[in-house]
Amino acid sequence: MTQGLRLVLFGPPGAGKGTQAQLLTERLKISHISSGDLFRHHVQAETPLGLKAADYMNRGVLVPDELTIDIALEKVMSLNAEEGFILDGFPRTRFQAKALEEALQTRARNLDKVVYIDVPEDELLRRLAGRFVCRQCQAPHSMTPGGTDGSPDRELICERCGGELYQRTDDRPEAVQTRIEVYKSETMPVLDFYRERALLADVPGVDTVEQINKRVMKALGL
Ligand code: AMP
Repeated sequence: MTQGLRLVLFGPPGAGKGTQAQLLTERLKISHISSGDLFRHHVQAETPLGLKAADYMNRGVLVPDELTIDIALEKVMSLNAEEGFILDGFPRTRFQAKALEEALQTRARNLDKVVYIDVPEDELLRRLAGRFVCRQCQAPHSMTPGGTDGSPDRELICERCGGELYQRTDDRPEAVQTRIEVYKSETMPVLDFYRERALLADVPGVDTVEQINKRVMKALGL
């Protein structure tokens, strides 16, 4: 059996990692592991982990490494050794990156590529303000405010599965600025970690979803 690709999609909040991960999952038939989605499931189910994580998430800061590494790596290591995966939102600190590297070493093969989707800050702020997410399948949707009160311009129904769309608490303006600052101070250093290992591919992330997907596929040599 051929070995599936092992990828990390890296970038600031609002870069389009989730959207690109979904397209890649469909095209490459590999698993999509989103640490944010894992946490949101725990929060919804009110598990002990969810109760601990919710406070950090609502404030837009990182959940501590000791909680994050366990749930992300448990998911990665539950796959068969030859199965591919796309990590989305993990790792977000150098410590997490090191833990992932060590876990993959026990499987004799490191990541194949880290794709960095680069989007300027003003564009991120605009995108996050209009982002709504499906409660059921987590697909992100982009809305333009319609009414004078800033309410969305169309029905809050998922185009993919018909589920209900909602705005994440941490996509509200108070939390968004914090998330971007946290990205710059804690997550950007992970870029150097992967640059040193020659795993990084840069993809400009302002264009149509399809164009960006073409660039991502090209960066992967596909
Ligand atoms: P996301 O959906 O990737 O934007 O993640 C939503 C929130 O979940 C983040 O703002 C963090 O509070 C938390 N989170 C997700 N992934 C991680 C991670 N790798 N490390 C720490 N916190 C995370």
